[in-house]
Amino acid sequence: MNITAALSRGPKTPFTLETITMAPLRDDEVRVRLVAAGMCHTDLVSKAGMPAEPGAVFGHEGAGIVEAVGAGISGVDVGDKVLLTFRSCGQCHACAQGTPGYCDAFVALNSSGLRADGSVTLTQDGKPLRGSFFGQSSFASHAIASQDNVVVVDPETDLAAVAPFACGFMTGAGAVVNVLAPDPEARVIVYGAGGVGMAAVMAAAALGVRTIVAVDLSEERREAALALGATAVVDGRSDDLVKLLAEATGGGATHAVDTTAVPSVISSAVAALAPQGTLVLLGLGAPEVTFNVMDLITSGKTVRGCIEGDADPQVFIPQLVRWHAEGKFPLEKIVRHYAFADINTAMADSVSGSAIKPVLVFDEPSAR
Ligand SMILES: [Zn+2]
Ligand SMILES: [Zn+2]
Repeated sequence: MNITAALSRGPKTPFTLETITMAPLRDDEVRVRLVAAGMCHTDLVSKAGMPAEPGAVFGHEGAGIVEAVGAGISGVDVGDKVLLTFRSCGQCHACAQGTPGYCDAFVALNSSGLRADGSVTLTQDGKPLRGSFFGQSSFASHAIASQDNVVVVDPETDLAAVAPFACGFMTGAGAVVNVLAPDPEARVIVYGAGGVGMAAVMAAAALGVRTIVAVDLSEERREAALALGATAVVDGRSDDLVKLLAEATGGGATHAVDTTAVPSVISSAVAALAPQGTLVLLGLGAPEVTFNVMDLITSGKTVRGCIEGDADPQVFIPQLVRWHAEGKFPLEKIVRHYAFADINTAMADSVSGSAIKPVLVFDEPSAR
């Protein structure tokens, strides 16, 4: 069938909305009509690093309505509202542990541009395109997804509101809920108040944490963090940042999340941990960081990385959708909606930082 997709034809060229052809649905696949799709940092990084040929369709925070299901699919029906998350094999050790973000087949299933068997889902004039991005390529009117990355949500869900739960917000919230699991007495610091960091702030607030400090360079974002549940904010440019953070938390962070990937920020974040505190690194892009190992050892501090919030999306996404419905996760305060045709404006606003979390919305808003 023919669909409309935002094609990427290289790092420098803008997205172009074009008609392309989607392959017939297989028995182990689900076809979804997109209602909304979040724009995540990974989409733009992938576009920036792509070759010009063949064209590619990105998008990995799809939210839509199931149009067709293959014969081998169970638990997903035509008409279901779904979020499309990352793919995983379901067989390996990480998948068996409920942490499919560390799946052995993660790269093959999510960023090869192909199905697992090497075939393509998207073509134009008979020529293959790179599709299957995170098992979806959801910058398009329709997507082909698989049993493992389709998450059915409540029929009352406002899909355009919750699309970011499919990746970015799951990452930030999962780092807090699944990895750090702070109690209300914990003292949490979140470095970087972009979409992922804001999700970490909202998750800490949803857990009832009473000290939540957000660190960012932008005053506007610090203000936004306060509206989402941060109890204090600190300008990341401050002299003696570590001392300021110690004061703001009353002795350092018991739990912290870095989303900045800035080496100097990460060094400060380690120093600003309380004894036995834990820092989780989410931001990609800092290959090497210097910090005081003696301090780490003698204070019993932990620094660890985390992908996709250590979440099992089939469990965690419905939990986040419930929190949102209960008013505990007010992500609409930082989501900005764009018509699909305005995808290049969404990208520009994401790059400039004027939009914290762009979400594209497709036609038929009444069907949301
Ligand atoms: Zn696996
Ligand atoms: Zn993402």
